[in-house]
Amino acid sequence: MSIQSINPYTGKLLKEYDLYDEKQIEKALSLGQQTFQGWRKEEFKKRKELMLAAAAELRENQEEYALLITREMGKVIQESRAEIEKCAWVCEYYAEKAEEFLSARAISLPDGKKAKVLYQPLGIVLAVMPWNFPFWQVFRFAAPTLMAGNVGILKHASNVPQCSLAIQRVFENAGFPKGTFQSLLIDSKATNELIADPRVKAVTLTGSEKAGAAVASSAGKHIKKSLLELGGSDPFIVLEDADVEKAAKTAVKARMINFGQSCIAAKRFIVVEEVFESFLEAFTEEMKKLKPGNPEDDDADFACMARPDLAKELYEQVKKSEEAGAKIILGGGKPAEGKAAFEPTILIDIPKNSPAYSEELFGPVATIFRLKNEKEAIALANDSEFGLGGSLWSQNLNRAETLAAQIETGAVFINSMTASNPHLPFGGVKKSGYGRELSQEGIREFVNAKTVFLG
Ligand code: NAP
Repeated sequence: MSIQSINPYTGKLLKEYDLYDEKQIEKALSLGQQTFQGWRKEEFKKRKELMLAAAAELRENQEEYALLITREMGKVIQESRAEIEKCAWVCEYYAEKAEEFLSARAISLPDGKKAKVLYQPLGIVLAVMPWNFPFWQVFRFAAPTLMAGNVGILKHASNVPQCSLAIQRVFENAGFPKGTFQSLLIDSKATNELIADPRVKAVTLTGSEKAGAAVASSAGKHIKKSLLELGGSDPFIVLEDADVEKAAKTAVKARMINFGQSCIAAKRFIVVEEVFESFLEAFTEEMKKLKPGNPEDDDADFACMARPDLAKELYEQVKKSEEAGAKIILGGGKPAEGKAAFEPTILIDIPKNSPAYSEELFGPVATIFRLKNEKEAIALANDSEFGLGGSLWSQNLNRAETLAAQIETGAVFINSMTASNPHLPFGGVKKSGYGRELSQEGIREFVNAKTVFLG
């Protein structure tokens, strides 16, 4: 069995790797376990020094790492560079903040007794990661997890093996002890065996609902903590008192980042009828301005999806939605057989019984809904299995904040697109998963909050 690295823009095979066998997996586990015994005791000062070195390694070799991303999953190069920069940012953020976030918390009890909560590392944490931000998703997990004194093992998506191995190199080049972070080229079956191994203490997965359910079931069976960052169908609500021009410009960016393949991309544009036509016109104009091109060219706005099967699947969702009554007002063309190219597409008049209403559209397809008023807009926003992020546009901030509290998601951004940021907790509710990454919440996920009572 092998794993292939294929450039989705050219269709060329770049590299091929054998899957790791049982012996290699066992070697990684025992190295991870052994490294943990030393790493858990390492002072924050030393961990910080190494994490800052990882940030420097990323910055110094930004172009090389960015090109790997672009070549393996088709993201345009300017976005790949930004992704590497963001990884350096999260390394620096946790290098600076980890000690403060994990310092012992003193508790004074009503009877005068005292206690402390210590935040201690767990051991090997397994990360199962997706291809869409092949560096960022991993660093978002690794920076806090390693700073907390855990060690990491990565099972990356099968279409980004070069990125996977490069990330292990980043930590090695930064000087982390061997085994602090290891990338394994393995399939789902081996992943489930890893979860069962007593040396693996917890698992985090970013990916689809299906993969999340499988991994969380294994974790549950073996009584291990899991964290799930799954899909989304984020609402982007535009009320009548919004700055419509600005909202429409931001909306296109929010939908088209990473060619639409982002969990927190705005996917459902929910617009009240007073401003529907002006929003639609501005949105369509803005979409038409985007320039296709080779993902390695500096001036390309988009290139292709990450794999031909993903383009095919997305097209099926659009086609079925059209058959159910949705209207295509831009794009909608069938991708050429075996190709990952896709036309930016806009759908309106979306009926409830269509995939565009209820499923995640993981690509460059915008669905725009016309609603009577804010009440209907919020009801539609919440009529989804997902609950990851959301965006709400109104120039009345009191009104916006009141409505934000009514939206069933892990985050709402007012007059701005949803974006992850190391300072802000990130995660979902409903079928978008559970647990939080980033900020203080993120680093506290994979630690033992141990109570020490001073009698
Ligand atoms: P995916 O197919 O679920 O894959 C994610 C990872 O899970 C890959 O490493 C995959 O490995 C692995 N996997 C799949 N089935 C598994 C199983 N039964 N047991 C163990 N591992 C399994 O998702 P994707 O297509 O890469 O990513 C797209 C999805 O991720 C979208 O739904 C998107 O919204 C979501 N996502 C969520 C977030 C978030 O933060 N909430 C961020 C990014 C993406 P293989 O590649 O070997 O199958």
